[in-house]
Amino acid sequence: MSLITGLHHVTAIAADPQANLDFYSGVLGMRLVKRTVNQDVPDTYHLFYADGEGHPGTDLTFFPWRDMSPGRNGTGLATEVGVAVPLESLDYWSERLSRSGVAGVREEARFGERALLLADVHGLQLSLVETGDEREFTPWTGGPVPARHQVRGLHSVRLWQRQLAPTENFLRAIGFAPVAEEAGWHRFSPGAGGSGALVDLREMPSEPRGKWGPGVVHHVAWRVPDDRAELAARAQVASAGAQPTEVIDRFWFRSVYFREPGGVLFEIATDGPGFAVDEPAESLGERLVLPPWFEESREQIERGLPPLNLTRK
Ligand code: ZN
Repeated sequence: MSLITGLHHVTAIAADPQANLDFYSGVLGMRLVKRTVNQDVPDTYHLFYADGEGHPGTDLTFFPWRDMSPGRNGTGLATEVGVAVPLESLDYWSERLSRSGVAGVREEARFGERALLLADVHGLQLSLVETGDEREFTPWTGGPVPARHQVRGLHSVRLWQRQLAPTENFLRAIGFAPVAEEAGWHRFSPGAGGSGALVDLREMPSEPRGKWGPGVVHHVAWRVPDDRAELAARAQVASAGAQPTEVIDRFWFRSVYFREPGGVLFEIATDGPGFAVDEPAESLGERLVLPPWFEESREQIERGLPPLNLTRK
């Protein structure tokens, strides 16, 4: 069994931040739980969408880098993000997406589950997967989607690999186990499996390497319950041959980063302290939150950021 208990968040690269907000909040109905800047590049936003309380495992985050040329899916990247939706909600979603002008949506059966496949407004490949698996979830009452149909959180990620074996061996060494295989996809899980704790690998030897840019996943974060588990997981990663960073304080969680052998950027993040550590739970995401060392430049930073309209649908 792994020290990792499931997916924590997935971070992707977006283009226009307002289009990103309109899609994830306005169409998918997720709550903007944190509006901040990239801690390394403070002239760009970092936007976080999650369930009503911002539970770990429900969180999709974006770097809206408007000036970057579009990304390209390929090997060494997470090429699709799966989010969980409740059983019998796919017809609702199909209609909602079509009403919202999302083109090219199609349905597929995967590992015995129904999934809708689509691209977001920046080209990021998403799947909405119907599942009855239990999870921590709080509905977002301020959003446009009724609670019974709301996105429950992350379901799975899909990775393309030039070679399967090095990544498989690495995952096994950090406690992941194979759970299923279908149509060339090898499904692994750090725990007992189930929605929110799934990674699917596929060997794609003739595909070129992927390239970061809008529409592409930047990194996949895995969750651990606390700092102790994080240090232990970090040691496991190092002895499995990867090169984890030191622990970095991200305020809402603490993180280490490393590349798995196929090149995908992974993070391990703690469940706590959570998004309500630096603003009230009821008004998460409404105000720009800055790391303390940027506070003295708040005015200048705010001026350099494009305006974001939270209420637009
Ligand atoms: Zn992250």
